[in-house]
Amino acid sequence: MVGVAGHPEAANLAYLGLYALQHRGQESAGIVSREGSATRVHRGMGLVADVFDEGALASLRGRHAIGHVRYSTSGESSLRDAQPFLAASSDSQIAVAHNGNLTNAQAIRTELESYGSIFQSSMDSEVFVHLLARARGRLEQRISDALSRVRGAYSLVFLVDDVLIAARDPHGFRPLSLGRLGNAWIVASETCAFDLIGAEYERDVEPGEVVLIRRGRARSIQPVPRVAEHFCVFEHIYFARPDSLVYGRNVYLVRKRMGRELAKAQPVEADMVVPVLDSGAASALGYAEAAGLPYETGLIRNHYVQRTFIEPEQSIRHFGVRVKHNPIRELVEGKRLVVVEDSIVRGTTLTKLVTVLRNAGAREIHVRVASPPTTGACYYGIDTPSKEELIAAAQSVDEIRDALGADSLSYLSLEALRRVEASMKHGFCDACFSGDYIIPIDQIEEAESQLGLFDPSGE
Ligand code: SF4
Repeated sequence: MVGVAGHPEAANLAYLGLYALQHRGQESAGIVSREGSATRVHRGMGLVADVFDEGALASLRGRHAIGHVRYSTSGESSLRDAQPFLAASSDSQIAVAHNGNLTNAQAIRTELESYGSIFQSSMDSEVFVHLLARARGRLEQRISDALSRVRGAYSLVFLVDDVLIAARDPHGFRPLSLGRLGNAWIVASETCAFDLIGAEYERDVEPGEVVLIRRGRARSIQPVPRVAEHFCVFEHIYFARPDSLVYGRNVYLVRKRMGRELAKAQPVEADMVVPVLDSGAASALGYAEAAGLPYETGLIRNHYVQRTFIEPEQSIRHFGVRVKHNPIRELVEGKRLVVVEDSIVRGTTLTKLVTVLRNAGAREIHVRVASPPTTGACYYGIDTPSKEELIAAAQSVDEIRDALGADSLSYLSLEALRRVEASMKHGFCDACFSGDYIIPIDQIEEAESQLGLFDPSGE
C-alpha cells in the first residue's frame, strides 16, 4: 500500500512503490490518481509489472495517487475485489486502500445495505468508503466517525478529492510509515518503498493516528483512543522485506537476532547451516554466527516461482513447492546440516525440502525454526491457514519432526521471541503462537468466511 501527495509524477512513484511492496500481495494491483477534479483508476489481476503498462500509467495523471497490492485475507479472488476502492459521495470522490482485516465488517455492511448502500465487492475494506461517504461534517469529523465504527486491523490510505489520508488502527497491528520526497509526502506499508523512489523515512504513523495531508501540509489527529500496542511479530519473522524498517527496526537485523537466540537455546553438532531462502536467510546467518558454524547456501531458490504462502491457486502452489528449491549435492552430500526456516505453517514445504536434501546425500538434517510453533490462525490481516490446517496445532514437536523426516527439530521459544520483541520497546501481537488474541475470537465475526478462502494445500 502506498500513497503520494504533491508530486507531478505521483502515479509513477506509486507504481514504483508497489513494485517494492510486491511481496505483500500478488493477486491484484491498482492505482487511483487525482488531477484537478478528475479521479482516475487502473486495477488488474496479477503482478504490478503485468497490471500496468506505459499507457495505463500515462492515463493516471495528477499530483496525488494511492496504490495497493492485494492478497486475499477476506473476500473473493477477482477483479472486483482489487483495490483501491473508489466511490463518490454527494460532494467528494473517495478512494481507499486497506491492509489488514476488519473483525466487524459484516455487521456494518448489513446495516449500511439496509440504508441503501450498494457494495461492489466482497471485501471488508469497502465498508470504509461507504462509512465515509455517509458521514457528515468536516473531513476530519467524517474520518473520525468512520474509524470509530470499525474494529480489527487496518492500515489505510485514503484519497478524498485531493487530500491524502493515512490511518492506523489503535492497536497498530499492521505497519505504516511516512516519508518525504522533496516537498511531496509518501506513505507506505514498508520503508523499502521509500528507498526505491529516493524518499526519506520520516516516521511511522502511530497506532490510532490519522494523518491528513492537504496542500503540502500534514496534520495529525487521534480520533480513536490509543490502546495497548499490538504490532504483528509475524511482519518481523516472515512477511516484511528484510531491507525495511518495520516498527522502527530493520527486519533483517531482527531476524538475525532471532537466529542467534535460537542457536543459543537449541545448539546441535553439525557441519553447516543451510537457510531456507529467502525469509530464513537472516535467521540462519544469526544461527551460524552464534553457533560458530559455516553458513552455506545448500538450497538454491528459483526466484521465478511466486511465494507459495500467499498464492491462492492450489495447483500452482503444489507446483511451486516442487520447483522452488534445489539442493547443491556437492555441498550437502555426507554432511550434517542445520536447516533454518523462519516458521512452519502446514509443514508441506519443509517436508519436501528435507526429502530433497536426503536424496542429495545429506547425512543428518536438523531443522531449526526461528519462531515458536504456529498454533493459531491470524484474524488481523495475515493469510495464515485455519487452525485445523496448522501442523503445530494438532501435533507435538516430536510428531512434526517425524512428519518432516528430520533427525531433530527445535523452535525458538515464545519466551525468546518475546524477549527479542520486548527489547524493541513496543507492544506486540503474538497470538498465532501464544493464543493471546487481544480481540477475543468469539467477537471476530468473519473468522469463518475469512478462513474458508484459504487454500488447504501448500505452506
Ligand atoms: S495473530 Fe500472528 S500473524 Fe496475526 S497479527 Fe498477531 S502475530 Fe501477526
